[in-house]
Amino acid sequence: MHIAQRKTATITTPINKRVASFTFGAFLALAGTPLSFAEEPGAGLPWVEAKEESLPSFAPGQFVFRFTGAGGFYLGDAGSAILVDPFLSNPGLWPVISLQKLKTDTAMVDRYLPITEQISAVLVGHAHYDHALDIPYVFSKLPPSARLYGSETLTNMLASQLPGDRRINVEPHMAQDAAGGEWLSVTPQLRVLPIASEHSPHVGRFIVANGKLQEAMQQLPADSLDWIAGTTLSYLVDFLDAGGRVAYRVFVQTSSANPPKGLPPKAILDDGYPVNVAVICAANFTNVKNYPETLLDSLQPKQVVIVHWEKFWEPWTLNQATALPGLDLDAFVARIRAAAPQADIRLPQRGAQFLLQPNQPPGGQPHG
Ligand SMILES: [Zn+2]
Repeated sequence: MHIAQRKTATITTPINKRVASFTFGAFLALAGTPLSFAEEPGAGLPWVEAKEESLPSFAPGQFVFRFTGAGGFYLGDAGSAILVDPFLSNPGLWPVISLQKLKTDTAMVDRYLPITEQISAVLVGHAHYDHALDIPYVFSKLPPSARLYGSETLTNMLASQLPGDRRINVEPHMAQDAAGGEWLSVTPQLRVLPIASEHSPHVGRFIVANGKLQEAMQQLPADSLDWIAGTTLSYLVDFLDAGGRVAYRVFVQTSSANPPKGLPPKAILDDGYPVNVAVICAANFTNVKNYPETLLDSLQPKQVVIVHWEKFWEPWTLNQATALPGLDLDAFVARIRAAAPQADIRLPQRGAQFLLQPNQPPGGQPHG
Protein backbone atom coordinates (compact mmCIF):
# COMPACT_ATOMS: atom_id res chain seq x y z
CA MET A 1 0.00 0.00 0.00
CA HIS A 2 1.21 3.50 -0.86
CA ILE A 3 1.34 4.67 2.73
CA ALA A 4 3.76 1.92 3.60
CA GLN A 5 6.54 3.65 1.71
CA ARG A 6 5.95 7.04 3.26
CA LYS A 7 8.77 7.93 5.58
CA THR A 8 8.41 11.65 5.99
CA ALA A 9 6.40 13.51 8.53
CA THR A 10 4.23 15.12 5.86
CA ILE A 11 0.62 14.10 5.52
CA THR A 12 -0.86 14.06 2.03
CA THR A 13 -4.04 12.64 0.57
CA PRO A 14 -3.04 10.69 -2.53
CA ILE A 15 -5.58 9.10 -4.85
CA ASN A 16 -4.79 5.63 -3.51
CA LYS A 17 -5.69 6.84 -0.10
CA ARG A 18 -9.09 8.07 -1.24
CA VAL A 19 -9.73 4.67 -2.78
CA ALA A 20 -8.71 3.06 0.48
CA SER A 21 -11.03 5.34 2.38
CA PHE A 22 -13.97 4.09 0.32
CA THR A 23 -13.01 0.55 1.21
CA PHE A 24 -12.73 1.51 4.84
CA GLY A 25 -16.10 3.22 4.57
CA ALA A 26 -17.67 0.20 2.97
CA PHE A 27 -16.36 -1.91 5.82
CA LEU A 28 -17.59 0.37 8.55
CA ALA A 29 -20.84 1.27 6.83
CA LEU A 30 -21.99 -2.32 7.19
CA ALA A 31 -23.03 -1.16 10.63
CA GLY A 32 -26.73 -0.92 11.07
CA THR A 33 -27.61 -1.74 7.48
CA PRO A 34 -29.55 -4.77 6.27
CA LEU A 35 -26.16 -6.27 5.39
CA SER A 36 -25.54 -6.61 9.10
CA PHE A 37 -26.57 -10.19 9.64
CA ALA A 38 -25.55 -10.62 13.25
CA GLU A 39 -28.45 -11.58 15.43
CA GLU A 40 -28.91 -9.82 18.71
CA PRO A 41 -26.36 -11.33 21.07
CA GLY A 42 -27.97 -14.03 23.17
CA ALA A 43 -29.03 -13.75 26.77
CA GLY A 44 -26.77 -16.69 27.62
CA LEU A 45 -23.66 -14.66 27.04
CA PRO A 46 -21.42 -13.94 30.06
CA TRP A 47 -22.18 -10.20 30.16
CA VAL A 48 -20.80 -7.92 32.82
CA GLU A 49 -22.75 -4.67 33.07
CA ALA A 50 -21.27 -1.34 34.11
CA LYS A 51 -22.66 -0.12 37.41
CA GLU A 52 -20.56 2.91 38.30
CA GLU A 53 -18.27 5.42 36.67
CA SER A 54 -15.19 5.22 38.86
CA LEU A 55 -13.00 2.37 40.02
CA PRO A 56 -14.02 0.50 43.16
CA SER A 57 -11.63 0.41 46.08
CA PHE A 58 -9.68 -2.80 46.20
CA ALA A 59 -6.91 -4.34 48.22
CA PRO A 60 -3.31 -5.22 47.30
CA GLY A 61 -3.21 -8.52 45.45
CA GLN A 62 -6.80 -8.07 44.25
CA PHE A 63 -6.80 -7.39 40.55
CA VAL A 64 -9.50 -5.29 38.97
CA PHE A 65 -10.40 -5.15 35.29
CA ARG A 66 -12.29 -2.32 33.64
CA PHE A 67 -13.30 -2.37 29.97
CA THR A 68 -12.82 1.03 28.37
CA GLY A 69 -14.07 0.26 24.84
CA ALA A 70 -12.62 -1.16 21.58
CA GLY A 71 -9.48 -3.12 22.57
CA GLY A 72 -8.95 -0.98 25.66
CA PHE A 73 -8.88 -1.74 29.34
CA TYR A 74 -7.44 -0.93 32.76
CA LEU A 75 -5.97 -3.79 34.77
CA GLY A 76 -4.16 -3.69 38.06
CA ASP A 77 -4.10 -4.06 41.81
CA ALA A 78 -3.57 -1.48 44.52
CA GLY A 79 0.17 -1.38 43.80
CA SER A 80 0.55 -1.62 40.04
CA ALA A 81 -1.60 -1.11 36.96
CA ILE A 82 -1.55 -0.98 33.17
CA LEU A 83 -3.66 0.56 30.47
CA VAL A 84 -4.02 -1.21 27.14
CA ASP A 85 -5.13 0.51 23.89
CA PRO A 86 -7.02 3.30 25.70
CA PHE A 87 -9.67 4.72 23.34
CA LEU A 88 -12.91 6.47 24.18
CA SER A 89 -13.28 9.18 21.53
CA ASN A 90 -15.18 6.98 19.08
CA PRO A 91 -15.29 9.40 16.12
CA GLY A 92 -18.38 8.73 14.01
CA LEU A 93 -18.40 7.06 10.59
CA TRP A 94 -18.42 10.29 8.63
CA PRO A 95 -15.23 11.83 10.08
CA VAL A 96 -13.55 8.45 9.63
CA ILE A 97 -14.45 7.79 6.00
CA SER A 98 -14.28 11.42 4.82
CA LEU A 99 -10.72 11.51 6.14
CA GLN A 100 -11.21 14.37 8.54
CA LYS A 101 -8.61 15.02 11.17
CA LEU A 102 -9.55 12.83 14.12
CA LYS A 103 -9.58 14.37 17.57
CA THR A 104 -9.66 13.08 21.10
CA ASP A 105 -12.89 13.63 23.00
CA THR A 106 -11.24 14.84 26.18
CA ALA A 107 -14.51 14.94 28.12
CA MET A 108 -15.08 11.23 27.50
CA VAL A 109 -11.55 10.33 28.55
CA ASP A 110 -11.85 12.52 31.64
CA ARG A 111 -15.12 10.93 32.64
CA TYR A 112 -14.69 7.26 31.90
CA LEU A 113 -11.02 6.32 31.76
CA PRO A 114 -9.66 5.45 35.19
CA ILE A 115 -6.37 7.21 35.82
CA THR A 116 -4.44 6.11 38.89
CA GLU A 117 -1.02 6.68 40.37
CA GLN A 118 -0.40 2.96 39.93
CA ILE A 119 -0.35 3.10 36.13
CA SER A 120 3.24 2.61 34.98
CA ALA A 121 2.74 1.32 31.44
CA VAL A 122 0.45 1.84 28.49
CA LEU A 123 0.66 -1.18 26.19
CA VAL A 124 -0.49 -0.84 22.60
CA GLY A 125 -1.35 -3.69 20.23
CA HIS A 126 -1.11 -1.67 17.01
CA ALA A 127 -1.37 1.91 15.84
CA HIS A 128 -4.77 2.15 14.15
CA TYR A 129 -6.77 5.13 15.39
CA ASP A 130 -9.11 2.97 17.48
CA HIS A 131 -6.09 1.81 19.49
CA ALA A 132 -3.86 4.88 19.50
CA LEU A 133 -5.74 8.16 18.89
CA ASP A 134 -6.28 9.01 22.54
CA ILE A 135 -2.81 8.14 23.78
CA PRO A 136 -1.34 11.67 23.75
CA TYR A 137 -4.18 13.05 25.87
CA VAL A 138 -4.18 10.03 28.15
CA PHE A 139 -0.47 10.56 28.80
CA SER A 140 -1.10 14.15 29.86
CA LYS A 141 -3.05 12.67 32.79
CA LEU A 142 -0.68 9.86 33.77
CA PRO A 143 2.10 9.85 36.38
CA PRO A 144 5.34 11.25 34.89
CA SER A 145 7.00 7.86 35.25
CA ALA A 146 4.44 6.07 33.05
CA ARG A 147 5.79 4.85 29.74
CA LEU A 148 4.37 3.81 26.38
CA TYR A 149 5.14 0.33 25.00
CA GLY A 150 4.44 -0.41 21.35
CA SER A 151 5.77 -0.86 17.85
CA GLU A 152 8.39 1.23 16.09
CA THR A 153 5.56 2.72 14.02
CA LEU A 154 3.59 3.74 17.09
CA THR A 155 6.56 5.27 18.86
CA ASN A 156 7.46 7.21 15.69
CA MET A 157 3.89 8.42 15.24
CA LEU A 158 3.79 9.89 18.73
CA ALA A 159 7.32 11.33 18.68
CA SER A 160 6.02 14.90 18.81
CA GLN A 161 3.97 14.15 21.92
CA LEU A 162 6.22 12.21 24.28
CA PRO A 163 9.96 12.37 24.99
CA GLY A 164 12.01 9.47 23.69
CA ASP A 165 12.60 7.93 27.11
CA ARG A 166 8.84 7.52 27.58
CA ARG A 167 8.27 5.75 24.24
CA ILE A 168 9.57 2.19 24.19
CA ASN A 169 9.85 0.47 20.81
CA VAL A 170 9.41 -3.15 21.86
CA GLU A 171 10.12 -4.72 18.48
CA PRO A 172 13.78 -5.66 19.21
CA HIS A 173 12.53 -7.68 22.20
CA MET A 174 9.59 -9.53 20.63
CA ALA A 175 9.00 -13.25 20.87
CA GLN A 176 8.20 -14.83 17.50
CA ASP A 177 6.04 -17.87 16.78
CA ALA A 178 6.00 -19.16 20.37
CA ALA A 179 9.76 -18.80 20.92
CA GLY A 180 12.40 -16.27 21.95
CA GLY A 181 11.61 -12.81 23.26
CA GLU A 182 12.84 -10.82 26.20
CA TRP A 183 11.12 -9.53 29.34
CA LEU A 184 11.14 -5.75 29.69
CA SER A 185 11.21 -4.55 33.27
CA VAL A 186 8.69 -1.74 33.74
CA THR A 187 8.99 -1.44 37.54
CA PRO A 188 10.17 -3.93 40.18
CA GLN A 189 6.51 -5.02 40.34
CA LEU A 190 5.82 -5.30 36.63
CA ARG A 191 7.40 -6.85 33.55
CA VAL A 192 6.21 -7.14 29.98
CA LEU A 193 7.05 -9.60 27.21
CA PRO A 194 6.17 -8.31 23.73
CA ILE A 195 5.09 -10.90 21.15
CA ALA A 196 4.97 -10.49 17.38
CA SER A 197 1.39 -10.97 16.31
CA GLU A 198 -0.57 -9.94 13.25
CA HIS A 199 -3.60 -7.89 12.29
CA SER A 200 -6.48 -9.99 11.01
CA PRO A 201 -7.78 -8.88 7.60
CA HIS A 202 -10.86 -6.63 7.57
CA VAL A 203 -12.18 -7.89 4.24
CA GLY A 204 -10.75 -10.83 2.29
CA ARG A 205 -7.01 -10.43 2.71
CA PHE A 206 -7.15 -6.65 2.97
CA ILE A 207 -6.05 -4.79 6.06
CA VAL A 208 -7.14 -1.15 6.17
CA ALA A 209 -4.39 1.43 6.83
CA ASN A 210 -1.61 -1.11 6.85
CA GLY A 211 2.07 -0.11 6.72
CA LYS A 212 4.99 0.97 8.84
CA LEU A 213 6.62 4.22 9.77
CA GLN A 214 10.38 4.16 10.19
CA GLU A 215 11.05 7.79 11.00
CA ALA A 216 9.81 10.00 13.75
CA MET A 217 6.88 12.22 12.80
CA GLN A 218 6.94 15.90 13.66
CA GLN A 219 3.19 16.06 14.17
CA LEU A 220 0.37 13.72 14.95
CA PRO A 221 -1.31 11.68 12.21
CA ALA A 222 -4.43 13.45 10.98
CA ASP A 223 -7.08 11.21 9.45
CA SER A 224 -8.09 7.58 9.94
CA LEU A 225 -5.73 6.31 7.24
CA ASP A 226 -2.74 8.18 8.66
CA TRP A 227 -3.01 6.03 11.77
CA ILE A 228 -1.30 3.08 10.11
CA ALA A 229 -1.16 -0.24 11.91
CA GLY A 230 2.59 -0.91 12.16
CA THR A 231 3.67 -4.21 13.67
CA THR A 232 0.86 -5.85 15.63
CA LEU A 233 1.72 -7.15 19.08
CA SER A 234 0.43 -9.36 21.83
CA TYR A 235 1.83 -9.14 25.36
CA LEU A 236 2.43 -11.32 28.34
CA VAL A 237 2.36 -9.20 31.50
CA ASP A 238 3.63 -10.38 34.88
CA PHE A 239 2.74 -8.62 38.11
CA LEU A 240 5.50 -9.54 40.58
CA ASP A 241 5.47 -9.92 44.34
CA ALA A 242 8.08 -8.50 46.72
CA GLY A 243 10.23 -11.58 46.20
CA GLY A 244 10.18 -11.16 42.42
CA ARG A 245 7.88 -14.14 41.90
CA VAL A 246 4.98 -13.96 39.50
CA ALA A 247 1.91 -12.95 41.49
CA TYR A 248 -0.42 -12.58 38.51
CA ARG A 249 0.05 -13.32 34.81
CA VAL A 250 -2.00 -11.64 32.10
CA PHE A 251 -2.09 -12.31 28.36
CA VAL A 252 -3.22 -9.50 26.07
CA GLN A 253 -4.16 -9.74 22.39
CA THR A 254 -6.22 -6.92 20.91
CA SER A 255 -6.34 -8.21 17.31
CA SER A 256 -7.28 -11.74 16.32
CA ALA A 257 -4.39 -13.57 14.64
CA ASN A 258 -3.48 -16.80 12.90
CA PRO A 259 -1.41 -18.90 15.30
CA PRO A 260 1.51 -19.24 15.87
CA LYS A 261 1.43 -15.43 15.48
CA GLY A 262 0.75 -13.89 18.87
CA LEU A 263 1.54 -17.00 20.91
CA PRO A 264 3.80 -16.58 23.96
CA PRO A 265 7.03 -18.59 24.06
CA LYS A 266 6.36 -22.18 25.08
CA ALA A 267 9.30 -22.09 27.50
CA ILE A 268 7.65 -19.29 29.47
CA LEU A 269 4.23 -20.94 29.51
CA ASP A 270 5.96 -24.01 30.93
CA ASP A 271 7.66 -22.12 33.78
CA GLY A 272 5.07 -23.17 36.35
CA TYR A 273 3.10 -19.95 36.60
CA PRO A 274 -0.40 -20.12 35.15
CA VAL A 275 -1.95 -17.53 32.87
CA ASN A 276 -4.48 -16.02 35.25
CA VAL A 277 -6.41 -14.10 32.64
CA ALA A 278 -6.33 -13.90 28.85
CA VAL A 279 -7.82 -10.74 27.38
CA ILE A 280 -8.63 -11.50 23.75
CA CYS A 281 -10.14 -9.82 20.72
CA ALA A 282 -13.45 -10.82 19.17
CA ALA A 283 -13.33 -8.62 16.04
CA ASN A 284 -12.66 -10.49 12.80
CA PHE A 285 -12.31 -13.82 14.58
CA THR A 286 -13.73 -15.62 11.55
CA ASN A 287 -11.12 -13.98 9.29
CA VAL A 288 -8.29 -16.02 10.84
CA LYS A 289 -7.82 -19.76 11.30
CA ASN A 290 -7.87 -21.84 14.49
CA TYR A 291 -8.58 -18.76 16.59
CA PRO A 292 -9.10 -18.76 19.51
CA GLU A 293 -8.59 -22.54 19.87
CA THR A 294 -4.82 -22.79 19.37
CA LEU A 295 -4.20 -19.73 21.51
CA LEU A 296 -6.35 -20.92 24.41
CA ASP A 297 -4.93 -24.40 24.19
CA SER A 298 -1.43 -23.04 24.69
CA LEU A 299 -2.38 -20.49 27.37
CA GLN A 300 -4.72 -22.68 29.47
CA PRO A 301 -6.03 -19.49 31.08
CA LYS A 302 -8.06 -19.52 34.27
CA GLN A 303 -10.16 -16.62 33.05
CA VAL A 304 -10.94 -15.16 29.62
CA VAL A 305 -12.15 -11.61 29.02
CA ILE A 306 -13.44 -10.62 25.58
CA VAL A 307 -12.67 -7.16 24.17
CA HIS A 308 -12.94 -5.40 20.78
CA TRP A 309 -16.47 -6.67 20.24
CA GLU A 310 -18.44 -3.43 20.01
CA LYS A 311 -19.06 -0.71 17.42
CA PHE A 312 -16.27 1.72 18.19
CA TRP A 313 -17.76 4.44 15.97
CA GLU A 314 -20.87 4.88 18.10
CA PRO A 315 -20.70 7.33 21.00
CA TRP A 316 -19.03 6.02 24.14
CA THR A 317 -21.71 5.60 26.78
CA LEU A 318 -21.88 3.23 29.71
CA ASN A 319 -23.58 -0.08 28.87
CA GLN A 320 -24.90 1.11 25.49
CA ALA A 321 -22.51 -0.68 23.16
CA THR A 322 -23.78 -3.02 20.43
CA ALA A 323 -21.84 -5.73 18.64
CA LEU A 324 -19.78 -5.14 15.51
CA PRO A 325 -21.68 -5.87 12.29
CA GLY A 326 -21.45 -9.51 11.37
CA LEU A 327 -19.79 -10.47 14.65
CA ASP A 328 -21.45 -13.58 16.08
CA LEU A 329 -20.69 -13.29 19.77
CA ASP A 330 -22.66 -16.43 20.58
CA ALA A 331 -20.43 -18.44 18.25
CA PHE A 332 -17.25 -16.84 19.60
CA VAL A 333 -18.18 -17.54 23.21
CA ALA A 334 -19.19 -21.11 22.33
CA ARG A 335 -15.77 -21.66 20.77
CA ILE A 336 -14.02 -20.25 23.85
CA ARG A 337 -16.10 -22.51 26.10
CA ALA A 338 -15.18 -25.54 24.02
CA ALA A 339 -11.48 -24.65 23.84
CA ALA A 340 -11.07 -23.59 27.48
CA PRO A 341 -13.71 -25.45 29.50
CA GLN A 342 -11.79 -24.69 32.69
CA ALA A 343 -11.97 -20.93 32.20
CA ASP A 344 -14.35 -18.38 33.63
CA ILE A 345 -15.46 -16.18 30.70
CA ARG A 346 -16.48 -12.51 30.86
CA LEU A 347 -17.94 -10.28 28.18
CA PRO A 348 -17.84 -6.75 29.60
CA GLN A 349 -20.03 -3.87 28.52
CA ARG A 350 -18.38 -0.47 28.16
CA GLY A 351 -17.32 0.72 31.58
CA ALA A 352 -17.93 -2.66 33.24
CA GLN A 353 -15.46 -3.53 35.95
CA PHE A 354 -14.96 -6.53 38.15
CA LEU A 355 -12.46 -8.22 40.40
CA LEU A 356 -10.47 -10.85 38.59
CA GLN A 357 -10.14 -14.31 40.08
CA PRO A 358 -7.41 -14.47 42.72
CA ASN A 359 -4.30 -16.34 41.70
CA GLN A 360 -4.30 -19.19 44.16
CA PRO A 361 -5.11 -19.92 47.80
CA PRO A 362 -2.74 -18.24 50.27
CA GLY A 363 0.35 -20.35 50.77
CA GLY A 364 0.00 -22.03 47.39
CA GLN A 365 3.24 -22.67 45.56
CA PRO A 366 3.35 -21.81 41.87
CA HIS A 367 5.71 -24.67 41.18
CA GLY A 368 3.82 -27.15 43.39
ZN1 LIG B 1 -6.76 -2.38 13.71
